[in-house]
Amino acid sequence: MSGFVFSEKPIEIASGDGVHLTDTNGNDYLDFGASYACTPVGHCHPEVVDAATSQLEELMYVQASYPHATRTALYERLAEVAPGDVGNVWLCNSGTEANEAALKFARHATGREKIVATTQGFHGRTMGALATTWKAKYKQGFEPLAGGVEFVEYGDEAAMREAVDEKTAAVILEPLQGEGGINPASTAYLEAVREATAEAGAAMVLDEIQTGLGRTGSMWAAERHGVVPDVLTTAKGLASGLPIGATLCRDWIAAESGDHGSTFSGGPVVSAAAGATLDVIEREGLADHAADVGSYLREEIETRLGDDVREVRGEGLMVGIEVKRGSNRLLRDLAIDHGILALPAGRTVLRLLPPLTVERDHVDSVVDALEEVIA
Ligand SMILES: *Cc1c(COP(=O)(O)O)cnc(C)c1O
Repeated sequence: MSGFVFSEKPIEIASGDGVHLTDTNGNDYLDFGASYACTPVGHCHPEVVDAATSQLEELMYVQASYPHATRTALYERLAEVAPGDVGNVWLCNSGTEANEAALKFARHATGREKIVATTQGFHGRTMGALATTWKAKYKQGFEPLAGGVEFVEYGDEAAMREAVDEKTAAVILEPLQGEGGINPASTAYLEAVREATAEAGAAMVLDEIQTGLGRTGSMWAAERHGVVPDVLTTAKGLASGLPIGATLCRDWIAAESGDHGSTFSGGPVVSAAAGATLDVIEREGLADHAADVGSYLREEIETRLGDDVREVRGEGLMVGIEVKRGSNRLLRDLAIDHGILALPAGRTVLRLLPPLTVERDHVDSVVDALEEVIA
């Protein structure tokens, strides 16, 4: 299932270092997929490895009801980097769980049922989050999912205003859709969602699981749009690839969030890795770096491949190239012939999500290779 792109010629990865991966035959790959944005600071960053290893040796696990300094420090770190006053933190083990919690908290805090989600949106694969995910292929054969979900066209302000009413608990959406094909939202659209939810007393839930942590050129995509949601979810690269998710919420949600819990919430080892990952992202200015290298990447693709592709979309180092034929063959050629790993986003979009530490010379190699496989 997960080997779909390379089913003819599987690549077995043995080790990773920074922006590189090495397979079991000793071949080197430039990792422009970062395993779905899970390594923002690069593979095996020494500071993250040290933090996790020291914690592993001292205490691997203690139940979440005992305060633990490493977890407490992560709560504080996340509150510091959160947009506006979205500073109450719930920790879990994946993106879908972070969204499950967001939807549960919003229902409990509002006492309402209805959830508004968007076309092409992706929020995870458990029964609740899956109900808010758009594509039928993810849902087929698993119904009935959680009820009360209504979909509106992503980007349509009027449809959003129309759908959000006094029965709405939450609107959930991505500020820049990932799985749906790298579709950016405009500031006006996000402002309209903010306004409509505020007026109706509903929660605005921003899923920043793929867009967060500096990826789009600011710590959170919401920041660049000047929009502060009621709930923000993050996961993927937060602990550099160890399993973690976080649901950040404003006081009015946190105060009435109901009874929720998870055995592994904020385990010491993942919390140590997450704290170190956030430290590196901030100290090395990786959000600004992503903005800079990301514009260079998009400009180079436009200039050198503009006529050979349909469209280049995205922000920072979250880039989608809409190609004129299926993306699977291109991904295979990039990997096998050029040692470059990338990702699909639907059938015709090639997706680039490299570690935020990539430099311009890496971009040059990738664009050279893209020119050969696409043109
Ligand atoms: C990956 C992803 C999820 C689901 O995260 P998992 O850790 O796979 O459960 C949810 N929302 C978005 C936007 C994602 O990219």
